[in-house]
Amino acid sequence: MSKRYDVLIVGGGMVADAAAQAIREQGSTASIGILGDEPTPPFPRPALSKKLWTDPDFTLETGEPDTAGETGAHITLDTRVISIDPDAHEVTTEAGDTFGYGRLLVATGGHPTTLDGLPPGERVLYYRTLTDYHRLRALVDADPKPHVAVVGGGYIGSEIAAAMIGQGCRVTLVHPGDVLGASMFPPDVAADYQALFTDAGITVVGGVQVDGGTEADDGVQLRLSTGATVEADVAVLGLGITPSAEPISDAITRSDDGGIVVDEHLATSAPDVYAAGDVAEYPDPILGRRRVEHVDNADSMGAAAGRILVGSDEVYDHTPMFYSDLFGHGYEAIGSVDASLESVVDRFGDGSFVVYYLTDDEVVGVLLWDCDGGLDEATALLAAHTRPADGDQLIGTIRPTSDEE
Ligand SMILES: Cc1cc2nc3c(=O)[nH]c(=O)nc-3n(C[C@H](O)[C@H](O)[C@H](O)COP(=O)(O)OP(=O)(O)OC[C@H]3O[C@@H](n4cnc5c(N)ncnc54)[C@H](O)[C@@H]3O)c2cc1C
Repeated sequence: MSKRYDVLIVGGGMVADAAAQAIREQGSTASIGILGDEPTPPFPRPALSKKLWTDPDFTLETGEPDTAGETGAHITLDTRVISIDPDAHEVTTEAGDTFGYGRLLVATGGHPTTLDGLPPGERVLYYRTLTDYHRLRALVDADPKPHVAVVGGGYIGSEIAAAMIGQGCRVTLVHPGDVLGASMFPPDVAADYQALFTDAGITVVGGVQVDGGTEADDGVQLRLSTGATVEADVAVLGLGITPSAEPISDAITRSDDGGIVVDEHLATSAPDVYAAGDVAEYPDPILGRRRVEHVDNADSMGAAAGRILVGSDEVYDHTPMFYSDLFGHGYEAIGSVDASLESVVDRFGDGSFVVYYLTDDEVVGVLLWDCDGGLDEATALLAAHTRPADGDQLIGTIRPTSDEE
C-alpha cells in the first residue's frame, strides 16, 4: 500500500486531533492522514482517570472529538510507524506499508514505564489507553467489587485510587514517598492531601517501591522493596512515561530523555518533519527547554503545529499549565512545582490556596488549589523572572476566587 497526504500525522492522540482541527480552522484544504497504533481514534485521554469514573453523564460517544468527521482526516488505526525517510518524504509501517507526505507531524506521545519484574497483563494495567480502561471497567463492575492495588503517587495513580474508592472497591495505594504528594506540595499541604485519601478509606502504603510481582488468573501479587507483598485482584500502575522511540530516523535529533528536539516553530532537525505534544522537547519562552506531558500543552502545541504545517510562520510561545481533579477538589499549576524548592503558601480561609515556588533568583512555579482563575497572573509572575527578597511578600499577589463561589 502506498498513499500520500499533504499533511501526515504519526500518532492518533490528542495532538493529532488538535492539529487536524487547526488545519481546517486556517481554511486549508490540505489532505490529512493520521496513522495511529491504538485501535481507537483520538479521544480525551484525561477522561480515563476522571470523567469516565466520576461523571455518569459522560461517555466517549458524546465526549470524544470526531476528528475524521469534523476535519475530513483519513485515520488509519492499529498501524505502527517504524521509520521515517525524510529524503523520500515517506514513512514505513510495521506491516511494511509506506505513506508519502508533504509535511510530517510526529505526535507519538509516550508509553508507560513498566517494571522488569511485572509484565503487563489482563490484571496488570500500565494505565494509558482505552483498552486499559475497558479492562479495568470490566473488573470493577464485577460482584463482589475487586481489591485494586494502585502503584504510583503521581496524578494518574492518585486519580485512579480516588476513582476506584468511588466505585466501591477496596483500594491500596503504594508509592515511594513518605507522604502522598510530598514531592510536589509543601509538607503541611501534602499531609492534608494524603488525608483526603485515607479519610476516603484508601490504604496508603508510602516509602516503598514495587520490585515486581506475579499475575494469576484470579489476582495479582506485588512484591514490595520491604519484602512484604500486596495481594489484589488487579494492579493499576502509573509510573510515568517514556517518549516513544519510534518512528526512527537518524535525521531527527533526540533529547537526552528520548524525546524529539524541536525549535520554536516546532520543526525537527529533518526537513518538513515537525513534532508536538508529550514527545516534543521545545524551547518554552518562560521556563526554558522542556518536554511537557500534559493536555494543555498537547492541545495548544498540536494546534500551533497544525497551523505551521499549512504555512503559518508563528512561534509556539504558550507556557502550558497542568491540572488534576479528585475528591471534588482540583488544582492547576504552572512551572516547577517541586517541594524541594523554597515555597510560600497563601491560604484564603475557605480551603483554597496558592503555593508559590521560588529559587534564589525568581518565582519558578505556582499551584492554585480549588481556585477559579489566577493562571494568567501566575504566568505573568513567572515571566517576570524575579522574586521579592522575602518570599512572604508574595502573599496576596494572586487573588483568585474560590471554585465554590
Ligand atoms: C490516565 C491519564 C490521565 C491524564 N490526565 C491528565 C490531566 O489531568 N491533566 C493533564 O494535563 N494531562 C493529563 N494526561 C496527559 C495527557 O493525556 C497527555 O499529555 C496527552 O494525551 C498528550 O497528547 P499526545 O498526542 O502527545 O500523546 P497521546 O495522546 O498519548 O497520543 C499519542 C498516540 O501516538 C500513538 N503512537 C505512539 N507511537 C506510535 C507509532 N510509532 N506509530 C503510530 N502511532 C504511535 C500512541 O499509541 C497514541 O495513540 C493524562 C494522561 C493519562 C494517560
